[in-house]
Amino acid sequence: MTKDIATPIRTRAILEKYGFSFKKSLGQNFLIDTNVLNRIVDHAELKENSGVIEIGPGIGALTEQLAKRAKKVVAFEIDQRLLPILNETLEPYPHVKVIHSDILKADVNHVIEEEFEGFTDLMVVANLPYYVTTPIIMKLLEDQLPLRGIVVMLQKEVADRIAANPGTKEYGSLSIAIQYYTKAETVMTVPRTVFVPQPNVDSAIIRLTKREKPAAEVQNETFFFEVVRASFAQRRKTILNNLTNNLPRGKELKEQIEQALLQADIQPQRRGETLSIEEFARLSDKLNELM
Ligand code: SAM
Repeated sequence: MTKDIATPIRTRAILEKYGFSFKKSLGQNFLIDTNVLNRIVDHAELKENSGVIEIGPGIGALTEQLAKRAKKVVAFEIDQRLLPILNETLEPYPHVKVIHSDILKADVNHVIEEEFEGFTDLMVVANLPYYVTTPIIMKLLEDQLPLRGIVVMLQKEVADRIAANPGTKEYGSLSIAIQYYTKAETVMTVPRTVFVPQPNVDSAIIRLTKREKPAAEVQNETFFFEVVRASFAQRRKTILNNLTNNLPRGKELKEQIEQALLQADIQPQRRGETLSIEEFARLSDKLNELM
């Protein structure tokens, strides 16, 4: 039996055979530790009938472990040089399909319709390219894909911001954007030593479980996110100052903004980072009525 792809010896042999050189610009840090890979897959809680979408299979280290536990895996890889390699390394797994595409440009809903017809359980599992973690996660959520959840490895610092609670320095518009759609938890931190080449930041695995409906009900979602972004524009300023300085016509409507804050039961002198998602929802609805 061939060794797992994610052993240092086999990874080196594959890279040498194809004369592969890493592209830093594509966030290419490959995993060479099967224990870590298995932990990622464990956290996805796959069942025999699960479908998995992977982003950035690299030389197939994680893909292989996913293939051992899922019914089907579809992986999006941007780097054409990896396609012949994946063709060889994933040959023993006919239920894996590699799509040569930038995930940010892909019509993932269409791919799901084509590749996962009849599947009742769908997860995204990936060791993400660190230069685009946030845009990828936001795309997966905003595209409203029929997923149970997302389990991904990313920079620890970003994981901390995603899973942060109100009142902490990590809490901000990214925490709210993601927690609006999902329940977010950091399930494991990972040392740099399990990658080649080693990244210059620490990593973490985060699990996002899709909510049946968003964390708060709002009248106007676009405006809700605008209010959230405005509230964090300058973290040291009060919410009243941030809203007046950063909402369209904010200065002109300062009185109405103050009124909306009070009606939403939020002291105007508080800072954005202390507000829960429910409070932001209440506030954006009041502002929507008064502005
Ligand atoms: N899954 C492999 C592993 O764990 O060893 C490789 C992970 S590596 C951190 C990220 C992978 O994402 C690379 O293979 C890279 O070429 C690919 N990638 C980078 N940007 C991408 C994009 N926009 N769309 C799809 N794949 C991308």
